[in-house]
Amino acid sequence: MIIKSKKTQTIEKVPDLTFNEYQSLSAETIQPQVEGDWQYFMLGLCGEVGEIANEGKKLKRDDYNSVTALRRAQILDECGDAFYYLNRVVESMGATMEDVARHNLQKVHEKYPVVNEK
Ligand SMILES: [Mg+2]
Repeated sequence: MIIKSKKTQTIEKVPDLTFNEYQSLSAETIQPQVEGDWQYFMLGLCGEVGEIANEGKKLKRDDYNSVTALRRAQILDECGDAFYYLNRVVESMGATMEDVARHNLQKVHEKYPVVNEK
């Protein structure tokens, strides 16, 4: 993946993108009029999750409940949009995505037994 960074004015190749690298690089695209506005980001997240659901509706209505290559691409695109806003919400709360991922992983492992150990 190649990303042009606004901060460094360079094009960076990011072979193994971490949550924190994504959070930092995607934060460069925040528009000044919404910077720090956690309510805006929460509304954005809700809107994008709705767009994922809408793709699921179209999958049922138009694709006869079969995941076509196009529908898959559209669903993943909307997941990316939701991920963007989720990042903004998390950083608005003063945390990183890796903080959230670690906390959630610990929670689900405590709450649910591991079914298939590898
Ligand atoms: Mg979208």
